[in-house]
Amino acid sequence: MTPYNTILLAVDFTPDASRIAARARQLAHASEACLHLVHVVEHIPIDAAGEFPAPPQADLHAEMVTTARERLREYAHAEGLDDAEQHVTSGYTKQEILDHADAIGADLIVVGSHGRHGLALLLGSTANAVLHGAPCDVLAVRL
Ligand code: AMP
Repeated sequence: MTPYNTILLAVDFTPDASRIAARARQLAHASEACLHLVHVVEHIPIDAAGEFPAPPQADLHAEMVTTARERLREYAHAEGLDDAEQHVTSGYTKQEILDHADAIGADLIVVGSHGRHGLALLLGSTANAVLHGAPCDVLAVRL
């Protein structure tokens, strides 16, 4: 089997993110691959009436991104992944993961089978969407 060169791990900071990290770490080690971490800040602003998206509140958004960067650094450290490239972005999770995989030329994306978006069917919505949209292999770590 050809080893992977560039592995992208999608991190959502749920308690299971540690198990997913362990799988990605093993794979990266076995393949001597570069490991990249991505976290997407999901920010969907709603207006006061809850009907229409409002323009993003710049301050709040910047704060969320800063906090997420710090959390990702802590996560990487706690999981023994200090050497991994870290990337925080914002927008639609599935699209951001796929875009980043494309940008770094990932040949494997690692996600959890389920996260915060509920226990729908066999795969959660992010894993399902990434699987369908990815130009490379996808590992959905069963949770
Ligand atoms: P979910 O769609 O919530 O069931 O999440 C399934 C998996 O998608 C998680 O285990 C993560 O690997 C990934 N994921 C979900 N949300 C994010 C996020 N905001 N940033 C990065 N990865 C995420």
